[in-house]
Amino acid sequence: MTRRVALIGKPLRRRHSQVMHDAAFAAAGIDARYELLELDPDAVEGAVDEARGPDWLGLGVTAPYKRVVASLCDEVERDAERIGAVNNVAKTPDGRLVGFNSDAPGFEAGVQLAMGRSLAGTEVVVAGAGGAAHAVVFACLSAGARRMTIGNRTVADAAALAERFADIGWEIAAVALDEPAFGLALRSADLAANATTVGMVAPGMTIDPSLLPAHATVFDLVYVPAETPLLAAARARGLRASNGSEMLIQQAAIAFERWTGVAGMADVMRAAVAPLLADATARA
Ligand code: NAP
Repeated sequence: MTRRVALIGKPLRRRHSQVMHDAAFAAAGIDARYELLELDPDAVEGAVDEARGPDWLGLGVTAPYKRVVASLCDEVERDAERIGAVNNVAKTPDGRLVGFNSDAPGFEAGVQLAMGRSLAGTEVVVAGAGGAAHAVVFACLSAGARRMTIGNRTVADAAALAERFADIGWEIAAVALDEPAFGLALRSADLAANATTVGMVAPGMTIDPSLLPAHATVFDLVYVPAETPLLAAARARGLRASNGSEMLIQQAAIAFERWTGVAGMADVMRAAVAPLLADATARA
């Protein structure tokens, strides 16, 4: 029996996940395939239910279904519940669906490589307050970041995100992207992360790299295009700068292990997805 995993979302513009997981299935000798299921909202519940069947290993979940799928699982892991988003679903041997989040550990692994150090004790500035920013804030706080500033175009969403993690006890400020306080926070940041779609679908950049200290790292979660205006400006200033490709690879390897029990597939996935990531013509 060929086993199945499907990514559900709408729209599904990219093949990066499919390419990574299919390469990992082949390398691990597992008869399985990763499908792309672009679903209308009324089809999501049925698709999740179908994944209880014996041929299914699990599901990947992307926008706009990361919240609704959480409500359709039999169980949601604590971290995913805390983040408020499920980006993968695993199946237990008795057919129960367990929602989990691999964006947060994927971000942590990717950003550690980019920074060359752990997040413990760092000051972090995050632009964005959507699904990805929730995972970023959770990852930073869990890893011991000592101060966070969340800047968002819609400041109420930044405030709601800060409030969500207020009980962790670290200092979290919520500001508008165009407020002076955002620029002030950048001046002492160890890490500045863009978790908005700016640079991908919208032009421009959310973070002014000229405000950052010389030791700071810029991490752009966007990976298409590979070099956003933010990364180009950060590199021109001589700052450490990485796009979101390593986060994408690391979170995929974490999900793969949960579905199959096979660890250590990041290298296979990185090699498989490299041509797509290097495609300069690729646009969101
Ligand atoms: P989302 O939930 O739709 O959130 C979008 C965010 O972008 C919001 O904070 C929104 O601000 C902001 N935004 C959109 N247009 C803007 C503009 N013109 N100016 C300023 N802010 C703007 O999206 P998401 O799922 O969090 O994804 C965010 C980014 O992370 C995407 O580029 C996605 O590809 C990337 N991502 C990467 C990985 C990875 O593995 N590398 C994983 C997940 C996501 P408002 O609240 O004001 O609308």
